[in-house]
Amino acid sequence: MSAVTTSAADRFLRYVNLSAVSGVEPITVDHGSGSELWDVDGRRYIDCFAGISVVSTGHSHPRVVAAAREQMERFIHCGTYLYQVPVVGDLAERLAAVTPGRLEKTFFSTSGAEAVEGALRLARAFTGRTEFIALETGFHGRTNATLAVTGNRKRKQHGGPYLGGVAFAPVPHLTRCRVCGGGRCTLRCADAVEDVINYHTSGNVAAFIAEPILGEAGIVVPHPDYFRRVKEILDRHGILLIIDEVQTGFGRTGRMFGIEHYGVEPDIMTMAKGIASGFPLGGFIARPEIADSFQPGEHLSTFGGNPVACAAAVATLDVIEDEGLCANSARLGDWLLGRLAELAAAHPGIGEVRGKGLMVGVELVESRESMEPAAQRATRVRAACRERGLIIGVGGFFANVLRIQPPLVITEEQLSSAATILDEALRETA
Ligand code: PLP
Repeated sequence: MSAVTTSAADRFLRYVNLSAVSGVEPITVDHGSGSELWDVDGRRYIDCFAGISVVSTGHSHPRVVAAAREQMERFIHCGTYLYQVPVVGDLAERLAAVTPGRLEKTFFSTSGAEAVEGALRLARAFTGRTEFIALETGFHGRTNATLAVTGNRKRKQHGGPYLGGVAFAPVPHLTRCRVCGGGRCTLRCADAVEDVINYHTSGNVAAFIAEPILGEAGIVVPHPDYFRRVKEILDRHGILLIIDEVQTGFGRTGRMFGIEHYGVEPDIMTMAKGIASGFPLGGFIARPEIADSFQPGEHLSTFGGNPVACAAAVATLDVIEDEGLCANSARLGDWLLGRLAELAAAHPGIGEVRGKGLMVGVELVESRESMEPAAQRATRVRAACRERGLIIGVGGFFANVLRIQPPLVITEEQLSSAATILDEALRETA
């Protein structure tokens, strides 16, 4: 037997397989409340990453805790796809009400990747077609099929071969689109989706999958007309639109769902992360005629739609509505973008600030002339923030984007302190 190690941190670092992750922050978390976390030594942090954009109502919101506890005392698991579970029906009904358009029937999973996998299968089942189109730099999960539709070589390495029949369309980057050029999106990138259908597929395309704002790509916000233009093309070819709201859903972007900014109704929509304030839950929702195209026995998830997670999700929706968290996200997001624009004026290492609601990215570059990504600086800024009591994320295709995605209950005061700390960290690492 291995030697007994001494501290919680030692045990974590020794026995948890961390070989696949790019770096665990040296914080041993003790507890959290709202938008704050404390480590085992009593140090307090403002949490501006929310466990990768998950803890939507903040850490251990009392209403979420109470709802989960109540369900736990009734029963924890019985098999959502074996019996009729009241709280699962309650959540599904709520989702039908808050999601766009005619989306109505949800299949529940335990994670975002599992939700995307299911959505891809459903698109195939409904259309009888086999191929997909996804976006360059897009991210949809770490399973084989979700990596197949992920447009990022680094995420895919050592994992292939992947599901065939996936073509990629150019990422609709507002200022640096390789199709539109000229520093401004002209929607030629949207029109290019038709070229992708015609030149890169056999025409047997089941669905186009995209995030409404690309999170892991570095908070890339497409042109406001992008999805409308793409949907017209897809409709002409009988191709479904799958919108992946795993990261953008549940108030993150200042609306309940990111696609609402674009006025487009998806055919299938995936969800996870913020849905249950940290309980593992995901799902995909579709119109009944699409949702019902699975054959009996074709799809299942043992833990999917766990009743405790569903109870937490119902409470999460209650809190989002009762505490006006979408509006808070929109208002504070606008405030933050303004404050970060001031920082950008003072720090030439900031190439671009972008986002919607409380989904904000600060792109760090060697210089604004070269726009060369400054990934190492991003890591140093994150460490300097941490030393001052602020947790932020780092991401982006080139790992040079600071990600600010706090719980939606964050206050202006906390966000203002976060911006001040970020300013200091940028000065220190200049
Ligand atoms: N889709 C998107 C847009 C995501 O951002 C993520 C995770 O970051 C996933 C899918 C995968 O979700 P999970 O990590 O819960 O499997």
